[in-house]
Amino acid sequence: MTKMLETIHTSKQMPKSTTVVVIGGGIVGVAAALTLAERDIPVVLIEKDQIGCEQSSRNLGWIRKTSRYAKDIPLALAADSIWASMPERIDSPVGYRREGIMFLAKDEAQLGLYDEWLKSVAGFKLGSRLLSTAEIDQRVPGGNKKWAGAVYTGSDGYAEPAVATTAMARAAMKKGAVVLQNTAVRTLVTRAGKVTGVVTENGSIDCDQVILAGGAGSRRFLGNMGIKLSTLPLICSVVRTSAIDGPTLSAVGGPDFSFRKHQDGGYIITQRGALKAPLTLDHLLLGYQYLDQLKNQRNFLRIALDRTFIEDLKLARRWSSTSVSPFEKVRVNNPATVTELNQEAMQNLRAAWPAFNQAQIAEAWAGLIDVTPDSNPVIDNIDALPGLTVATGFSGHGFGTGPAAGQLAADLATNASPLVDPSPYRFDRF
Ligand SMILES: Cc1cc2nc3c(=O)[nH]c(=O)nc-3n(C[C@H](O)[C@H](O)[C@H](O)COP(=O)(O)OP(=O)(O)OC[C@H]3O[C@@H](n4cnc5c(N)ncnc54)[C@H](O)[C@@H]3O)c2cc1C
Repeated sequence: MTKMLETIHTSKQMPKSTTVVVIGGGIVGVAAALTLAERDIPVVLIEKDQIGCEQSSRNLGWIRKTSRYAKDIPLALAADSIWASMPERIDSPVGYRREGIMFLAKDEAQLGLYDEWLKSVAGFKLGSRLLSTAEIDQRVPGGNKKWAGAVYTGSDGYAEPAVATTAMARAAMKKGAVVLQNTAVRTLVTRAGKVTGVVTENGSIDCDQVILAGGAGSRRFLGNMGIKLSTLPLICSVVRTSAIDGPTLSAVGGPDFSFRKHQDGGYIITQRGALKAPLTLDHLLLGYQYLDQLKNQRNFLRIALDRTFIEDLKLARRWSSTSVSPFEKVRVNNPATVTELNQEAMQNLRAAWPAFNQAQIAEAWAGLIDVTPDSNPVIDNIDALPGLTVATGFSGHGFGTGPAAGQLAADLATNASPLVDPSPYRFDRF
């Protein structure tokens, strides 16, 4: 994981009971716990390793409406307001900046797709628009390539993943949440078909409600209880450079690179046109649900049959509350950096903006993304198991919406009026 992830000190005492247990200390679980603590609802947040250790510290930090499905825009708009007020709310910076996000089009066909997206979200008045080649040169000077155009949203931006989630967790504790780290939840306890508690590796807690925000671990956790959630793991690899004078403060996505300024003066870069797909049994079991995505994004995927397949097979799919769970055996999903993709990203970016020739690589890492068949998350109460709310499957774009998604999950778990219409995120849609 990134060296920049802040370590925070949390409780060592496991309460006997609470009202809500949140499983998973990523941005979604932390936002849910923060919301509940602010509403004076007793909450215990349980993380198997350290807060923010998986996707929520490893991501690029983009907070965008651009290129989102129309039905996901209300959550993104709610998240924008939450991000803007977050520093005051938690009395700590999160690196949030509205510097705009731009996606470049290499040809007219790509620009046409951006235009279609603009039409699909016209009702939201996002201020998104197409940029001409000349406008791109003006906003991101010093480029070598002639782009067909770009789509741009000035109110999009980014925050710093390595500090945001931990800062929010610290604030949640100050407001009354109990946070436990290095504690894997093994199973749920049920009585008369309803959730009544959780069993962790260090003891159990009685509760009325559980919110599962377990990221890439959610599918296996639910599977152990006979609940089928469709998500597949994909790997995204990232580079952070040391400080340089870059061409813009806006975040820029090209066809085969992307970059955005980091608060320390460097840039966060990835090969935007490629994700590694390490084959697992789940890819074989669920692959058919992803055929549409595969058709559109075949060139995006670098499919690899490597030792991940065997390692994943060895991990239990069913276990009891008294046996060591897969979440203790693999404490953190920590995929190896994909050097080849990072090299491609740097080469492609340097060819497009030679200013990046001076960039020195300060750090590289990778993260495991949990992708659903329609690339939208599940945020819902599970009818088959009253007392369980799930907020997971954020498909590579849940950092930006995370603070709103966590709040929505807290609303659903406690029967409060929902922040936005939750119907796009129904569990039973697959
Ligand atoms: C490289 C990369 C780049 C990305 N870029 C962006 C971006 O620019 N913008 C954007 O919006 N999104 C981006 N994303 C996606 C974004 O990071 C995720 O969608 C978001 O962080 C999901 O948050 P989460 O809380 O659901 O999951 P996570 O952050 O993965 O948190 C889940 C937590 O649950 C814990 N857990 C799981 N099971 C258990 C258990 N049984 N007991 C206790 N704890 C458990 C895990 O340890 C983990 O800490 C990117 C992701 C990656 C990997």
